[in-house]
Amino acid sequence: MRTVEHFIGGRFVPAASEATFTSVSPIDNRPIAEVAEGDADDVGRAVAAAREAFATWSRMDPAERRRILYRVADGVESRIDELAEWETRDMGKPLFLSRDKDMPRVAQNLRFFADWAEHASTRTYAKPWDGVLSYELREPLGVVGAISPWNFPLMLLSWKVAPALAFGCTVVAKPAEQTPVTASILAEICAEAGLPDGVFNVVHGFGPDAAGEALTTHPDVDAITFTGESNTGRAIMAAAAPTMKKLSFEMGGKSANIVCADADLDAALEGALRGSFVNQGEVCLAGSRLLVQRPVYDEFVRRFVAAAESWPVGDPFDPATRVGPLVSEEHLERVLSYVHLAQEEGAKLLTGGERLTDGALAEGNYLAPTVFADADNSMRVCQEEIFGPVEMVMPFDEVDEAIAIANDSRYGLAGMVWTKNLDTAHKVAQEVRTGTMWVNCFFVRDLRAPFGGYKESGLGREGGDYSHEFFTEAKAVVVKLS
Ligand code: NAD
Repeated sequence: MRTVEHFIGGRFVPAASEATFTSVSPIDNRPIAEVAEGDADDVGRAVAAAREAFATWSRMDPAERRRILYRVADGVESRIDELAEWETRDMGKPLFLSRDKDMPRVAQNLRFFADWAEHASTRTYAKPWDGVLSYELREPLGVVGAISPWNFPLMLLSWKVAPALAFGCTVVAKPAEQTPVTASILAEICAEAGLPDGVFNVVHGFGPDAAGEALTTHPDVDAITFTGESNTGRAIMAAAAPTMKKLSFEMGGKSANIVCADADLDAALEGALRGSFVNQGEVCLAGSRLLVQRPVYDEFVRRFVAAAESWPVGDPFDPATRVGPLVSEEHLERVLSYVHLAQEEGAKLLTGGERLTDGALAEGNYLAPTVFADADNSMRVCQEEIFGPVEMVMPFDEVDEAIAIANDSRYGLAGMVWTKNLDTAHKVAQEVRTGTMWVNCFFVRDLRAPFGGYKESGLGREGGDYSHEFFTEAKAVVVKLS
């Protein structure tokens, strides 16, 4: 059992109320950590520490901030095995994902934004004929509340914390209650790396009527950067309105993965598998609606099901495992309720669909990759985010029909199209209303590109200049030259 405390003003401290909650591992639902349960008092202490630290951190030379953030990145790399093991134990994702994907991205996020902030430039608007010179100053925004989900716990937290710190803000982070441990290890690393006290603070606990909500209503928090469910985004938006905080939201998705008959079907198959089942399908960007053009539909679905059945499900510490347990028993029950709903709505179950209970799996929250064919986009299971290894497959005839199906969603986070026809690729990319569209690939990211969602999938964009804009205020300085 690990003890996980808040990190406030550079020190690990218990909750002011001394309340704690127990975090269990999805591998066997046994306790792994006793965690400080934050409330408004704890958030108040953390915000005060962040405000005090802001005065000096925001004025520090960005090159010095970069040096410190690089040391944090080095610290992440030097403890990568420990971080990855805790991430897997806490969340359930296969160890190779934690160690080879998520943790390297944490270090990359830190270095990328540290560099960006050091070299960021602003615009000048000269009007020599009027004798006026206007230029833009970008000033650190202030104290930022960073609220993150459990599916990529440290990776997504660092996607918020790294730019906030690099651009001179100070942070109070509220990690997901299901996966608190690695944020706490990051706090240790920050302290070891010489990050000044109060610059990065962590308050653990729950959302509604608890630490999360307290952060969103606190008058001295200037902005909230949030990743999580769209309904939570709605609640945060309402809670933040009275204090007029700047908001950046990355939320849910129900993205369409469009496989055209002329595609490289081997590549499309590999992309579709990853788009459906990687990280147990607990991926906001998942291509959870698979649209396959009629001439190749039967053959593609047959191959997709066979390949899905070949993905080993089991202990995430076993190197052979590709699908680990779902994050919690409660979440597994929710995903299973969608499996039952899909059957009621008339989709055809081709594989999976039941909790796995063989041997040690019985203790954990395991569900095999599950595929439904012949789904109709009007079904609730095609409209609502299931957030598990459950794929809804449907046929289409013309590309225009696939685009219409893709757009018939209240979400607009991501999408994929597999085709060898350049015109089709660009047409789909332009006409699907979504934040990211991958053509003949999936999950590839350039951290300079805008990241976020259309419709109920997001508010604003993060990445490169978009993060610079969010975490700074723009000031126009107007100079009259005589
Ligand atoms: P969630 O919305 O339940 O929780 C996310 C965070 O918000 C947690 O830290 C939680 O404690 C906090 N929270 C909950 N209610 C709150 C409130 N009223 N006020 C303040 N904070 C509150 O989401 P989750 O279940 O942890 O994550 C899964 C969801 O996240 C899915 O919908 C997924 O699509 C989405 N997601 C989106 C992206 C993206 O980049 N768009 C990335 C990952 C996950």
